[in-house]
Amino acid sequence: MVKFLDLAAQYQTIQQDIDTAIHDVIAKSAFIGGEYVSKFEQEFADYCNVEHCIGVANGTDAIEIAIEALNLPQGSEIIVPANSFIASSEAATRQGHRVVFADCDPQSYVISIEDAKKRITPKTKAIIAVHLYGHPCDMDALQTLADQHGLCIIEDCAQSHGAEYKGKKVGSIGDIATFSFYPGKNLGAYGDGGAITTNNPELAKKCRMIANHGRIAKYDHEFEGRNSRLDGLQAAILSVKLKHLPAWTEKRIAVADYYLANLKDIQQITLPVRQNWARQVYHLFVIRTAKRDELKAFLTEKGIQTGIHYPISLPKLKAYNHTKQANENMFANSSDIKLLSLPIGEHLNEQELNRVVTAIKEFFE
Ligand SMILES: *Cc1c(COP(=O)(O)O)cnc(C)c1O
Repeated sequence: MVKFLDLAAQYQTIQQDIDTAIHDVIAKSAFIGGEYVSKFEQEFADYCNVEHCIGVANGTDAIEIAIEALNLPQGSEIIVPANSFIASSEAATRQGHRVVFADCDPQSYVISIEDAKKRITPKTKAIIAVHLYGHPCDMDALQTLADQHGLCIIEDCAQSHGAEYKGKKVGSIGDIATFSFYPGKNLGAYGDGGAITTNNPELAKKCRMIANHGRIAKYDHEFEGRNSRLDGLQAAILSVKLKHLPAWTEKRIAVADYYLANLKDIQQITLPVRQNWARQVYHLFVIRTAKRDELKAFLTEKGIQTGIHYPISLPKLKAYNHTKQANENMFANSSDIKLLSLPIGEHLNEQELNRVVTAIKEFFE
């Protein structure tokens, strides 16, 4: 079996450090807040080359809290890529705003700046820049657009820990950024976890207060917030895993390079394009083919696990019927484009990669 993801195998490589970390948190009862959370927040801020990091309960909360902290006028329009996970858009709606979808770029699959431009109205106040599959958005072009129209940029880095745009780490470029540490992400906890990063001290303070019942000190509630915290066990686990992230990321890039080199002659598939300004961290390696479903079935039969990200574009989900944005022609590159995610990760060895490539070649022969 060639696994899509193998967290059990990863655990075995770091078991001693993880077990010690878990034991330490329990021995010190440092479950909520405390030294392990502060330590990880500092380490992750350093890793992203950003001033502030606030641990929260998950990546979806991170987006909601970031939007709340920006204090946009009620009913603002927020532009979100049509090709993403629903967390990118539902946070906007839950904060009382209107989601406006934009198409994606047909090569790297992140938001198309050209298309986003067309969706701007006087009510538009923010853009969610999802660095999808690990590929950064074109941040200079987005910033130009944002400056022209007075928009905030929220980076959704749930799939892009360590990715770089022109040498700058994602999470340090927009007004505010959000991360997920869902177990299957490039940096994953052993449960839910998330973070917000920013270089803006006021936004950082506001987010920290929103995530902790509107307070800084114990009973000094300045406004009503909510409870969304990264817990001590997850923080300690993440500190252990963060040390390995650079090596794991290199491995992901090597797997992607292997696929790019060995699948390039197959006419029937379109490979993902890495823009020359991008350090793409390949949360997913996504190919495009008209025979997607047949290929997926063939690979399953050969014991090769694959995924589909995403089977239905956001505007076509039932949840967005009310927005009346499902018209196919509006999202030519995001609707039904038959994407298939191949196995990727530090768990794969050369022999397994060879099996994937051989099976794909056999299918198209
Ligand atoms: C995983 C993911 C999220 C949400 O993260 P959770 O921690 O699962 O809430 C948000 N945006 C994108 C693009 C994601 O892939």
